[in-house]
Order: sequence, then C-alpha cells, then structure tokens
Amino acid sequence: MTVSLETIATLAQKRGFVYQASEIYGGLRSAWDYGPLGVELLRNVREAWWQAMVSTRDDIVGLDSSVILAPQVWVASGHLASFTDPLVECTSCNNRFRLDKLTDSEVCPNCGKRGTFTEPKQFNLMLKTFLGPVEDAGAVAYLRPETAQGIFVNFANVVRTARMKPPFGIAQIGKAFRNEITPGQFVFRTREFEQGELEFFCPPAEAPKWHEYWLQERLRWYVDLGMKPGNLRLRAHEADELSHYSAATSDVEYQFPWGWDELEGIANRTDFDLRSHAEHSGVDLRYFDQDLGERYFPYVIEPSAGITRSAFAFLIDAYDEEEVRGEKRVVLRLHPRLAPIKVAVLPLSKKDELMAVSGEVAATLRAHWPVEHDITQSIGRRYRRQDEIGTPFAVTVDFDTLQDRAVTIRERDTMEQIRVPIAGLVETLQEKFAGKL
Ligand code: ATP
Repeated sequence: MTVSLETIATLAQKRGFVYQASEIYGGLRSAWDYGPLGVELLRNVREAWWQAMVSTRDDIVGLDSSVILAPQVWVASGHLASFTDPLVECTSCNNRFRLDKLTDSEVCPNCGKRGTFTEPKQFNLMLKTFLGPVEDAGAVAYLRPETAQGIFVNFANVVRTARMKPPFGIAQIGKAFRNEITPGQFVFRTREFEQGELEFFCPPAEAPKWHEYWLQERLRWYVDLGMKPGNLRLRAHEADELSHYSAATSDVEYQFPWGWDELEGIANRTDFDLRSHAEHSGVDLRYFDQDLGERYFPYVIEPSAGITRSAFAFLIDAYDEEEVRGEKRVVLRLHPRLAPIKVAVLPLSKKDELMAVSGEVAATLRAHWPVEHDITQSIGRRYRRQDEIGTPFAVTVDFDTLQDRAVTIRERDTMEQIRVPIAGLVETLQEKFAGKL
C-alpha cells in the first residue's frame, strides 16, 4: 500500500506523534516536535539501533561527544571549506533552491519561470554561533553537522581506555544540525535532526570487505524491524556524487511517497579524517599494531543513519488501510519493538466496577510494557485509535470480567480475539511478544 505524504503527516499530527515546532507562533517550517507517541517511537528506534550496533557486539563501543566542538575540527575535517550545497535564487520570486535537487535546473518550481536563476553559489550548511560574551571572529563556533567528528577526535582516547584494536567501531547517537536550504517533506529533511553513526576502524586492506559487510548488515536492520524489503534498495554513488572524504559510498534508499530517497549513507572514508586531524592537531593518531610492530592510520567504514528520518520511514512503511465490514480500517503495522504503546487496556464502560478492574489490569501490565489505559469515547473509537497508533494488543475488560475474571485480547493485525483469565494475562502476552521485543 502506498500512502501519500499528506495522509501520513495528518495521522502523525492528529495522533500526537509529531507537532509543528513553535506552533502557537505559526510554526517553524524546518523543525518539528515529537509528542507523547513520537518520543516513544524515537526512543525505540534509537534503542534498536544501539542494540544492533553496540550492546550485542564485542567489537563496538559507544560514545556521547559534544554538539559544539573546537572550531579547528571543522577546518581539519574539510567541512568549513567543502560542506556546501549549490544555492540558486529565482530573480523573479526570490525563492531559494538547492540546484542539485531541482528536477529541471532551468525552471523555478515556485513560480514556474524559466531562466530566472542566479549563478549557483556554494552555501555552507554549518550553523554558526558564538561562544562566550563577545561576538567576534575569535568566538565563532559551529553546531556539529554530523556526529562523526566527535568520534574521530576521541579515537586515541577510546583506543587507550577501552583497549580496542582494529577492526573495531565507535558508535554514537545524537543531534546534528544543518542549515538546509530547503527543509521539507515533513520530518524527512529538517535543520535539526538525530543521527546514529558508526565509525568502524579497520586495516586499510580490509576496508572493501567491511564496507560490503556493513551494507548488508544495515539493510538487514531495517528488514528485521519490519520494513518491506521491496521498499528498500542499495544505491552506489557515482564518482561525481562522492563527498570530499569518500572513496566509495552506497546509500540505503527507501521508497518514500515522492520516490526513492536516502535513509542512510554507508561510506568508505579511508584514513582521511584521522590523517587530517593528526596533521592539524600535531597528535599522532596512528594505531600501533604490536603484532606487526608498525603504526598505521586505520581506514574507516561509516554507516550513517538518520534516527528521525528512519522513524518517519518506519511510520510510512507500517501504514495500511483495509476494509472491515464495509468500513475503512487504518492500521499501523509497526514492529512490536517500535510500537510506542505495547498494550492498550480498554474497559467497556466507565462504570466504577469495570474501571477498578481495568485500572488494576493496566497497573499489572505496566510493570512489563508501556501501556495505555484508555477510558475515553466509545469502544469502537478506542480500537480505531489503537490501530492507528500501532498498538499490537488491546485488552478489553467487560461486564463478564466481573464474574469470570477473564478479559479479551484483540490482536492488531488479525483482529482475532481470545479470552484469557486475568491471572494468566501477563504470561499469554509474554508468549505472544516472545522474540519480538
Ligand atoms: P542530502 O544529500 O540528502 O542532503 P547527505 O547525503 O548529505 O544528505 P549524509 O551526510 O549522508 O546526508 O547524512 C547521513 C544521514 O543523516 C542521512 O542518510 C539522513 O538519514 C540523515 N540526515 C542528513 N541530513 C538530514 C536532515 N537535514 N534531516 C534529517 N535527516 C538528515
């Protein structure tokens, strides 16, 4: 099922996944806030990434570095000179565009005029700020446009303190900032976003092998979390597309409502960063291999994923509509690990006796999973809400419950219902979730 951008953006905002940033002041086009469900989804995506990349491996360690780094970092990394996009302005309507993203480089997508663009100028995407009370050139600093450089500048610290030996990786999740010329497509491209990046250091000769390995691993990660393989592909960059540091890059692309677009870039960054930081800082960042008795700059394979962007893609991929008894049912078929709420508890009515039991049931389940005890509106509407937010199971407490101490479990995907005693509810749900959380 292909969902339109408008449909998914409407659902996300209506149900509280995403709000427009600073909405009461008219919003900020380039920024979005994550509501009660969105924040859970993001946490789950982050956690799934960390699990796959750090917790379950003995060759990768984590890091949490600063958002603001020494300005020299961006000189050495090449970002100050080369982290640019080609900017053109339409002289008729004064809108600005990224030249490389235009479908027709001659025609303004806003006013439709031809031949009105200025000459392209290279626009640096780093967000500038000042540190300290004096706003002069010496106080200029940048918000990181990628988390990667925080890893490179800590390479020697990690080797020394965590006693890591190539091939090994350092992983980090965190915010990155880019002064995008044209943010848009809802949360797909924003000026503030979150990345999950791994820098995997290996002997230079092994780089092609590890590059291939990480392409497959990363593709699998999305599929394991329920994304349809047909909506995913790997695309190798052409030589003229490669970043200044890259010997080879392939993107994991997803079939978004507007077509194939990037979810994650997986680059062979060679020894560009370590070598450059060593030159600029004067600190020897070569790894000393005791077995070989030699020092060398490891090569780096970098899978760089968007946490916010992949959360969005998971939402799109999970969206489904079907007809049930003549009515449209909208359901988010999110993988249980990603679902913000794992179990909903719904009393059939607001009668005190029912609410007392459903409150108890909710409290019991909450010790195991994120639970929503939903007592508003009609039961039909509440099922609809839980389907639309992707809750895998709904537990209904009805009048029979008062007699038989049993409840009904309804499965999101099949809508199958089974009746189970409250005493065995946790075990039954544990069985149903087995291996999926
Ligand atoms: P593009 O060419 O589309 O601007 P890029 O190739 O420069 O993107 P990378 O530097 O490879 O992007 O960034 C790695 C990942 O970080 C991307 O695959 C994406 O998931 C995420 N990302 C990059 N820029 C943004 C953004 N502005 N908003 C949200 N996520 C982003």
